[in-house]
Amino acid sequence: MSEKKKKLDTMCGLPKDVKGDLLDAFREAVRKPRFYCERCHRVARKKRHLCKPVRLREKGKSSR
Ligand SMILES: [Zn+2]
Repeated sequence: MSEKKKKLDTMCGLPKDVKGDLLDAFREAVRKPRFYCERCHRVARKKRHLCKPVRLREKGKSSR
């Protein structure tokens, strides 16, 4: 067991108890969410933080 470094993997796999560095990373990742997890209903700025990311609709920019 060498799990010293706490880094943010996915929003989806977050433990209930989030604090310290992980909390900082979490806050950073959800500050301006661009993606949404279709499976877990969470948001994040980077899609790699989600297990099933879909792009959030951008306001004022309609592709259709
Ligand atoms: Zn997910």
